[in-house]
Amino acid sequence: MENCIFCKILNKEIPSKFVYEDDICFAINDINPKAKKHILVIPKVHVESLNEVNDFELIKKMFEAVKKINKQENITHFKTLINTGAKAGQEVMHLHIHILSD
Ligand code: 5GP
Ligand code: ZN
Repeated sequence: MENCIFCKILNKEIPSKFVYEDDICFAINDINPKAKKHILVIPKVHVESLNEVNDFELIKKMFEAVKKINKQENITHFKTLINTGAKAGQEVMHLHIHILSD
């Protein structure tokens, strides 16, 4: 999707270190971390938000990735967050799960 920051990161148009990648999704450190560890888990397919998800296999795969990332990063306690809609604080209109941990 044109003019989508996360699609540009996926396509390497904007450089960003991937902390995790599989067939379905990838993960990066948040540019403006709101916790000591703040990772974003992002599907490779451009889906605007949870409101546009029809096949929840995608969400299952994303949470499987969360668990793998946490193991890799030694994260044992954490919060996950999905903002849906600008009024709820969604700034990037490409679905993502926040992982927040101290
Ligand atoms: P949202 O508010 O949409 O749920 O979360 C978007 C998140 O993406 C924010 O926490 C913001 O700091 C992060 N973000 C926005 N642009 C970039 C970027 O170019 N690189 C990285 N790594 N994170 C970004
Ligand atoms: Zn996108």
